[in-house]
Amino acid sequence: VVKMVLDGDNCEGILINPFGPALFLPRQMLEPLSYVRPSSRIYLMEADITKVGADAIVNAANRTLLGGGGVDGAIHRAAGPELLAECRGLHGCNTGEAKVTGAYRLNADCIVHTVGPIYSGSREDAKLLEQCYKNSMDAAWECNCQTVAFPSISTGAYGYPIDKAAKIALRTVQNWLWEHPDSFMDVYFCCFSKADLMEYQNALSYLPDIPPEAE
Ligand code: ADP
Repeated sequence: VVKMVLDGDNCEGILINPFGPALFLPRQMLEPLSYVRPSSRIYLMEADITKVGADAIVNAANRTLLGGGGVDGAIHRAAGPELLAECRGLHGCNTGEAKVTGAYRLNADCIVHTVGPIYSGSREDAKLLEQCYKNSMDAAWECNCQTVAFPSISTGAYGYPIDKAAKIALRTVQNWLWEHPDSFMDVYFCCFSKADLMEYQNALSYLPDIPPEAE
């Protein structure tokens, strides 16, 4: 709206709440506002993801999508049995892909279920883990989410070394945010222990400050 007023010649400003105690913002007041651009941010935190409020909560699920241990079990317990009922209708999910369900009793709009690779040491692992983060961001974006919480996918039962996985997670999400400059997403990386958080903090220092094409 601010841009529309400033781009046109015949608009004096914006009248907010014309039917109540109205506030008139003249053109001159709008100009500085047009320089303020919201931006996306990445946050690292030590947290139980089931207690974090976010529009989308990402689940490190398995290919059946029918629940399991670790963060998957915790999300199913916190969301309630309706989640399992909805997941039954999804008929599983391939490694690297993502599927969306409702969030039920979780403090979120939706759950994005993605299946991380079981670590084997092959090159394919990194590609699949990257796909998990990319496809989860795409899914959250398609659901109009502006805050997304990730667990550390594949670094529990699936055995991915967390130092390597954290670098892939941060780099992939940062690239996604750069590729979607109008998305204005806040992304929370929820680490389940102080040691995991330290790994993510360390991985953060390897991230480039500017997008590759700007170099
Ligand atoms: P995967 O099978 O993908 O390895 P896991 O659930 O075994 O998934 O582990 C993934 C990560 O999630 C691990 O770092 C684990 O410590 C962490 N985790 C487990 N429970 C929670 C939780 N409630 N909130 C956030 N992270 C969790």
